[in-house]
Order: sequence, then C-alpha cells, then structure tokens
Amino acid sequence: MSLPVRCFAFLAVTLVPSFLASAQEKPASPEKTIAIRAGHLIDGRGDKVLDNVTIIVKGEFIISVTPGGPIPQDAQLIDLSKATLLPGFIDTHTHVLLNGDVTAEDYDKQLLQQSIPYRAILGARNARIALDNGFTSIRDLETEGGMYADVDVKKSIANGEVPGPRMQVATRAMTPTGMYPLLGYSWELKVPTGVQYVDGVDGARKAVREQAMYGADWIKYYSDRKYHFEADGVLHSMVNFTDEEAKAIVEEAHRLGKKVAAHAIGSDGISAALRAGVDTIEHGDGLTEPQMEEMAKRGIFWVPTIVVGAYVAPGRGGNWTKMVDLEKVAFQKASKKGVKIALGTDAGGFDWKAINEAREFQYYVEYGMAPMQAIRTGTSVAADLMGWSEKLGTVEAGKWADLVAVSGDPLKDITELQHVKFVMKAGDIYKNEVH
Ligand SMILES: [Zn+2]
Repeated sequence: MSLPVRCFAFLAVTLVPSFLASAQEKPASPEKTIAIRAGHLIDGRGDKVLDNVTIIVKGEFIISVTPGGPIPQDAQLIDLSKATLLPGFIDTHTHVLLNGDVTAEDYDKQLLQQSIPYRAILGARNARIALDNGFTSIRDLETEGGMYADVDVKKSIANGEVPGPRMQVATRAMTPTGMYPLLGYSWELKVPTGVQYVDGVDGARKAVREQAMYGADWIKYYSDRKYHFEADGVLHSMVNFTDEEAKAIVEEAHRLGKKVAAHAIGSDGISAALRAGVDTIEHGDGLTEPQMEEMAKRGIFWVPTIVVGAYVAPGRGGNWTKMVDLEKVAFQKASKKGVKIALGTDAGGFDWKAINEAREFQYYVEYGMAPMQAIRTGTSVAADLMGWSEKLGTVEAGKWADLVAVSGDPLKDITELQHVKFVMKAGDIYKNEVH
C-alpha cells in the first residue's frame, strides 16, 4: 500500500511543472467554517423543538449549537431560517447491490444476468439516492450474491470518489447449504448463491474470519425461512442453523469485534437468534411478548423493515399480508415494552427509485409512535445500533456535521421527512433546495 503512495509523492516533486509542484507544496487550506441559521431545530436529544438556532460547522464537525447565536464574520452563511433541521437520517437495513425482489424471478434475473461490476455501479447510484433522501449513514446488510462489492461501494464513498452515505457493511451473509436462492436449477449448472453457504461449527468460524478479512463490519446470518401460522396464532418458521453453528458464528464475530445481525421472521427463528446471542433482529414479524421482554432486558435492537413487507406482500401473496398485520401489532407492543427499535427499510428489497426510505418513519407514526420518537429510531437509536453514538445521531457540538432540513414541521406531518431539501454530510453540502 505505502509504495505507490511514496512513488506518487516522488513524481510530484520531481517531474511535474514547477507551478504545479509549488501548488502541491502549499499547506492545506484551513478548515472552512460554515454558519447555519436554522429556523427550527430537532436536535434528536430533547423533546422540544429549538427556534432560531445558529449551528457552527468547522471541517467535518459541529462546533456549537446556540439558540440566537451570532454569525461569525469569517463563516460562510447558510440561511435555513425558514426550514426545520434534523440530524442526518440513518437506515440500518439496506441492500445497495439489489434493485427490488418482489418475486423470485426479479431476484434470479439480477444474479444471473447482471455482472457484479454492473451491480456495483447501480449500488453507487443507490447510495446516492439514499444520501439525496437525507440518509447520511446506512448499514448495508449483505450483497445478495454481489460478493464483497459493498466494501468497494463503501470505499469509493469514503475516498470521496462518489457521493453517498457513510456505510457499515455485512458483505455476503450466511446460511446453511441449500437454504437460500438461487435454488431450483439443474444440478448440472453452477449458479450463484445469494449468500455464502456455511456448514458446521468450524465452517462457521472460518466464514466469519473470511468475511472479516475482506471488510465485513457486521456479520449477518439467516436464522430462519418458511414462515407459517399455526393453531396458536403465532408465526412459526424453520430454523436454518443448529444452535452450535449459530453460536459459533456469533462467538467468532464478537471475538473479532464484529456485531451480528440475524434475519429472523418467525418466532422459532427469533428464539434461535436470541439463544445464539445476536445484536440485532431483522424483520421480526413474529415477535412474541416474552421475546420482546427479553430483547428489552438485554438491549437487543429490533429493525422492523415495515416498508418492504408492505411493498412486497401483494406481489408475493400467501401469508405475507397477514405478516404485515401481525407486525403492526408486534410493533405497538414492542414500543410499549421499551424494545430498542432502530429504523431500517430493507431498501433494495424494493426498487430504490420506487420508494423513499423515509416512508418507514411514516409507518411508525401510523402504527402509533409519537413523531419525535419515530425520528429517534432513524437518528439517535440507529446511531447507537451502529456503535457511533459519540459521533452521530444528534445535533450537538463534537459530532459529525450530518444535517438535513425540511420545509414543513415533521412533528405535525411526518411525510415531510420524505421531502428533504438540504443534506450535509460531515460538513459537505450535497443538496440545498431550500428557498
Ligand atoms: Zn434485507
């Protein structure tokens, strides 16, 4: 790594014309100071909306947040005095490498007819859509057959090559052999698999090490499949891994300092994931009350992804509509029981261009959550899930300058969050349509 960098530096001082060389030798320009005049601020901490706030941003960080504060003379002024500012949104469940999979055919087509480089290009485009929607950070929970291309999308954003949210990525995800598409093709054909097939305790540990080696920030595994209702009214499912395998995945991931997300929809899959010691439950439609209580007690996050369930249900038929109704009841109970609910949409499970991810906030409010609490699921609670509470999720001094603005009052109308007019990530402005 260091060699090409040194070579480049050497070339810069010896071969380029002298005026360029001198330009490069100039000390880096001092960090720019931006002063934002916010008409209203939802800082993500208190329940009150603050009015007439001056936010000073220097470089990547927020320096101060002061109601009625003065504008420093040397600062660039951004006038958002007619807008409401909020912390940048965080979507904790996305798939930038996927573009909708309502039916198995949609899914198979992408894996069979699109190369991974092509999918990565679309991934960069999807990341841009997320940023445009006000999501300045995302946790991308597997590439769906795109191998480690999420690491490349993340890297190209972090290096400033393409615009997008900062990312944590899960790479390939895991399931035992034969328990995730592509399935149903002739055994004579070698077809790609949507996740990495992993078997046995040793295989589980090796897969975790391999994914970590190639850049996984999170380890994701599929706890269950085949969701069905039984006479007890509970949504049941078939559990994929043996307890020994699931525990090996979690233990090895934790040992390497990685957290674990489990796809778990039915109550059996959720129980198995909780036994294994995962950090987040994804989807969780079939959550039972004892499971909610256990999650609240142990501080395990629930990422409900309601928007995708509601979107794919009509096209998938079967139990899917019933599952959406069930999840609504689970959501209402879980929020009362104090389960940490973090906003996640499963974008990619629906076409990124078809639905704004902020639709998820609206579902939470429609399901009975107070608008301010719903906003926290996609800001401070999500930052907590990401392990970035110190840097993200609220508007306060010392944090990354991730800010969004909307024209109206999202506490009166939560759909305002689907019309973000201003986006700043780490002090850089990516969108400003505030008039
Ligand atoms: Zn997903």
